[in-house]
Amino acid sequence: MRMIRNPVPWPGGATCAVAFTWDVDAESVLQIDHPDTAHKRLFSLSAMRYGPETAVPRICDILAEFGHKTTFFVPTWVAERYPAAMERMLGDGHEIGHHGYLHESPNLLSPEDEAYWFQRAHEGLEAITGQKIIGYRAPSFDVSPATQALLTDAGYLYDSSLMGDDVPYVMRENGRDLIEIPATIIHDDWPHFSHNWDLGATNQISTPARAKELYLSEFDAVCDDGGLWVGVWHPWISGRPARAKMMFEMIEYMQSRANCWFAPLKDIAAHIAEITADGTWTPNVHPMPYHPGKLKEWDKASWQPAPATDERQHANHGQTIESC
Ligand SMILES: [Zn+2]
Repeated sequence: MRMIRNPVPWPGGATCAVAFTWDVDAESVLQIDHPDTAHKRLFSLSAMRYGPETAVPRICDILAEFGHKTTFFVPTWVAERYPAAMERMLGDGHEIGHHGYLHESPNLLSPEDEAYWFQRAHEGLEAITGQKIIGYRAPSFDVSPATQALLTDAGYLYDSSLMGDDVPYVMRENGRDLIEIPATIIHDDWPHFSHNWDLGATNQISTPARAKELYLSEFDAVCDDGGLWVGVWHPWISGRPARAKMMFEMIEYMQSRANCWFAPLKDIAAHIAEITADGTWTPNVHPMPYHPGKLKEWDKASWQPAPATDERQHANHGQTIESC
């Protein structure tokens, strides 16, 4: 049974598109979470600096072995501080995407502040890379209601932060389209491997075999049907030796299992734009925003939630119930 209802005709008769994308966060996440004390947290700083300094060359070596290009999303603050990693990624022909300035979450900013940091990150990344930046992944996937307009105003071709379909789709807002290349938390390495108490992540650590089983189960379900598999991995987490080796083994398996097109997201987005324009394929369209604002059902004037259990107990004793 086919799992993909709107299969994409991928280039060269490929039955699946694959992108192992990497978010090169380095210690930006620690700095944004602990602005006053990050500089003292050497354990976490060292673990996260491992990403651009030790893991990126290893990841690039593996991709070069297969002749694959991919997309690295890099906060501009990180791009400014790790020139050797940038040189390696760019020198190998990989795409660099926008990933905030210091990994700031758009929904924690005012629209004005989001616009400021978006533009500062965009201009800085274009200056460092010499590339026209056309792809975006929101830090922590935290796209805000204001983000899409920023992207379309700046001429971006695609976003890859959302999870609304199995294959690329179009988000249409005020008559303007943006291609979404969906990711999924299932393909993210954070739930499997991230274990750092400074970041509040204390999951049990998976073995690479366990993670690989989950990643490939999703791949197997779509790889013959015009599907898409996008990994969201982090060099400081999955660039460690056994996990990097897992990527090598996954690519070998994918290549043996199906006719896969391994491509950076900019090429996937360009292909989607092309086959949409010439009528070869029709993407699903998501009218945006999903909701214009807070649901009216939450209007206090029309509805009051039931009091919590302990408040009911207070009420039974004639005490005042605080307004919700
Ligand atoms: Zn990130």
